[in-house]
Amino acid sequence: MDRFGVEPWCRHVLLCPSVKLAVPTESLSGERRVAVTPDVAAKLTASGIEVAVQAGAGVAAHFPDSSYADNGATVAADRAVLLAGADLVTKVQPPTLEEVQALVAGTSTVSFLAPSANLEVIRALAARGATAYSLELVPRISRAQSMDALSSQATVSGYLAGLAAAERLPKFFPMFMTAAGTVPPARVLVLGAGVAGLQAIATARRLGAQVRAYDVRAAAREEVQSLGAAFVELPLETQEGSGGYAREQSEDFLARQRELIGNEVASSDVVITTAAVPGRKAPILVTAEMVDRMVEGSVVVDLAADTGGNCELTEPGLEVDRGGVVVYGMTNPPAAMPTHASFLFARNVANFLGLLVKDGKLDPDFDDEIIAGACVVRSGEVVHQPTRELLESKEGRS
Ligand code: NAD
Repeated sequence: MDRFGVEPWCRHVLLCPSVKLAVPTESLSGERRVAVTPDVAAKLTASGIEVAVQAGAGVAAHFPDSSYADNGATVAADRAVLLAGADLVTKVQPPTLEEVQALVAGTSTVSFLAPSANLEVIRALAARGATAYSLELVPRISRAQSMDALSSQATVSGYLAGLAAAERLPKFFPMFMTAAGTVPPARVLVLGAGVAGLQAIATARRLGAQVRAYDVRAAAREEVQSLGAAFVELPLETQEGSGGYAREQSEDFLARQRELIGNEVASSDVVITTAAVPGRKAPILVTAEMVDRMVEGSVVVDLAADTGGNCELTEPGLEVDRGGVVVYGMTNPPAAMPTHASFLFARNVANFLGLLVKDGKLDPDFDDEIIAGACVVRSGEVVHQPTRELLESKEGRS
């Protein structure tokens, strides 16, 4: 006890109340990632953030509860108690309505939020007076690269797409020169050469395949070529949007693209599709007719399955057999490699929290373009303009 009658540790807590961060177990079926890994929990604890994880939160990603306890985090058995004691909550997937109800008013959340697809949750967060940040909306500027969870998780997806294709193809990826004869390399076509597409190219190249790729953005050509793949030149105008993304393409453009890409698809052993336009349904690049022209045993891996698919035949989460050609619609691929997907995601989260928490206090600067860009709900007000407009138009209709 000191002269004020306070235990020294108690005085420290009273003078420096730290930010309490809760990490609930993901509840979406098949989600095996965790938002904070034990090593990141140790770093956050050292920076003055009290970390509490729900019991079992890291188990599916192979991080047992004991590894969190060994790294300074508290393990809480009860989710409602965990959430009720938090200033900040971080998750991979958007909070559920049930989780939002368990938050104390004014809590901040950091997660993927997919606001346009989760309007009910956004409304509930606002009603709770919460502040919610969407990691998809972190602006893609150099300073925010270490917080770019879309890119870190797309890296995992692209790598897994390359492996999934190689596993399903009844042929070798590399060329083999053997005494019995020479096996030609597999011909792999990657459509959409963003973060996931480039990683799929790199993986297929490492396995020895002959890779060609196409994207509507001009910058993609050089990136594709730097990985040792050939860029497919189509006589089409480029489709640059803002922030390094593609813009939404007209149906006329897509029809011309399909016309021109048909022979490339038909002559490939593997087609990996990753084409996306943020906030929109994925464009159809591969038709059933193109798949019908592929040689039996060929494989289509569709990484856009979660947003409608780039192939007309894609069934999310399933492997469709079309005349001996497998069309695999991969859903939530990063969850299939949860240890390293979580490793990267947790670092993205910690770097983002580094902006929100200063000197042990939750003190976001809303003039910072990263914070302002990622914030969807601020103290109960929906501040992300496109989400607000969607909510208003929905209210107007109901
Ligand atoms: P994404 O997931 O939204 O789309 C994937 C790819 O599909 C994109 O390359 C897009 O151009 C392509 N595409 C869309 N429609 C297509 C069509 N009809 N045919 C063929 N391809 C089509 O994008 P992403 O991978 O998240 O990012 C795209 C780009 O953004 C990156 O390659 C990079 O240039 C840029 N980026 C910048 C930063 C940064 O500066 N911090 C970070 C990440 C990405």
